[in-house]
Amino acid sequence: MMPTKTNMQGNFTDKNCRMCKKPIEETQQHILQECEEISRITNQVENYSDIFQDGNVDSLRQAANIIIKIREVMETRLQQP
Ligand SMILES: [Zn+2]
Repeated sequence: MMPTKTNMQGNFTDKNCRMCKKPIEETQQHILQECEEISRITNQVENYSDIFQDGNVDSLRQAANIIIKIREVMETRLQQP
């Protein structure tokens, strides 16, 4: 699971994306598919539904690697003041 605001029951005053700083709800799908800041960093996020629906092992492996990378980026970025 991604450490997004909508996935975490937390003390957030809003659900806006912390990565791109836009007034867009920070959902898992936004982070993986739509967030410009994340895609700028990873530059390899493919279509979210394609990755998770086609059952292709290579795609799933690729998706797992992307998710690991995004989690690292988010955790690093969100720990900075
Ligand atoms: Zn965003």
